[in-house]
Amino acid sequence: MNFHIITIFPEMFDSYLKESIIGRAIKDKKISIKFYNPRDFIKAPKNNYKPVDDRPYGGGPGMVMRAEPILSAVEAVFKKLKAKKLVKLKAILFSPSGKKFDTAYAKKSTQKYTDIILISGRYEGIDARVQKILRAEEISIGDYVLTGGELPAMILIDSISRQISGVLGKYESLEEERVSSSEVYTRPEILKYKSKNYKVPKVLLSGNHKKIEEWKQK
Ligand code: SAH
Repeated sequence: MNFHIITIFPEMFDSYLKESIIGRAIKDKKISIKFYNPRDFIKAPKNNYKPVDDRPYGGGPGMVMRAEPILSAVEAVFKKLKAKKLVKLKAILFSPSGKKFDTAYAKKSTQKYTDIILISGRYEGIDARVQKILRAEEISIGDYVLTGGELPAMILIDSISRQISGVLGKYESLEEERVSSSEVYTRPEILKYKSKNYKVPKVLLSGNHKKIEEWKQK
């Protein structure tokens, strides 16, 4: 899976994508991540600085991200993909009022696409014509408003990547492929905390796999 991220803050991704499972997935070439900064696509004569944002029509506080630099950045993705065969491309635009992202969506994405463009907004959002022109799907990661689409992009990358076979250490680690539990324990068997003993549930020490599975189901 190839992720193409449109963002004016690519550095925000650095530490997250470098570490742990996602870092390894990139090294192992299970996924690839490329950045396209709309600032690099601003067409303006030299010394005639044009910002990436502008005031909203109809008034109101905050600024709106201009359409042209984002569309040019997306065109750079198209150009790059043109030479490749068998590209199944999806464009996603982040918005708090979009369709809610979930595991089913992540799973479906790994089956349907080879390349995903993730457009991260900032400020008051992106000029609505970008969505109309690209017919991008508007996706929300939850019912709250963030300051930008960079965290949502990282969340999608993380959640979609762990659905790709070979990304997690063992395929069984995928939650849907086994009975999982949010209640998990590790050593010590008896945890002493402020003169009280906290024990691991007996069933987990029993070695009886059937009973353990039943306990997890509950
Ligand atoms: N005024 C806008 C909010 C803009 S928030 C509105 O009411 O829709 C700025 C940017 O952060 C958005 O363009 C989007 O890319 C991102 N964002 C904020 N909250 C988000 C959420 N819950 N899910 C996905 N993206 C979000």
